[in-house]
Amino acid sequence: MPLKERISHIDEVRSWQGSIRLEGVYTAGVAGERWLRGLQEGRIYGTRCPRCRYTYVPARLFCERCFGHLDEATWVEVGPQGTLTSWTRVHVALDGQRLSPPRCIGLVRLDGADALLVHDLLEDGTPLRVGLRVEAVFRPPAERVGSIRDLAYFRPVP
Ligand SMILES: [Zn+2]
Repeated sequence: MPLKERISHIDEVRSWQGSIRLEGVYTAGVAGERWLRGLQEGRIYGTRCPRCRYTYVPARLFCERCFGHLDEATWVEVGPQGTLTSWTRVHVALDGQRLSPPRCIGLVRLDGADALLVHDLLEDGTPLRVGLRVEAVFRPPAERVGSIRDLAYFRPVP
């Protein structure tokens, strides 16, 4: 059989029954892993481009605007408070199941950051509006594992 085989008729298609075991390890990358470790410590970090002055959250290794390298010196702590820039209620889960109660998702610009972070938003009865001040709520330290879920949700600032 040639290395490249062109199939011109459906009856030329061959198949083999069986399975291939695949294993993999997902990594969040250098900046992503450090960012998640920050969440585990109850801190939210960003990286601020020294040329553009744009602050990314989550932290990045390269500026998407000027392609500058964002090294150790560019890491800055942001938040934990921020401003709600948009929000929505999700009524249907990814598997099609109806969510009851609906899940509220917010788009937050953390203090000191330019980029927006999407995360769960706690509805505590405060009327939601663009410009509402919100704050990050972390899981208890013993429950944190270095995941985006270590940041439990944002809630309106009392
Ligand atoms: Zn830049």
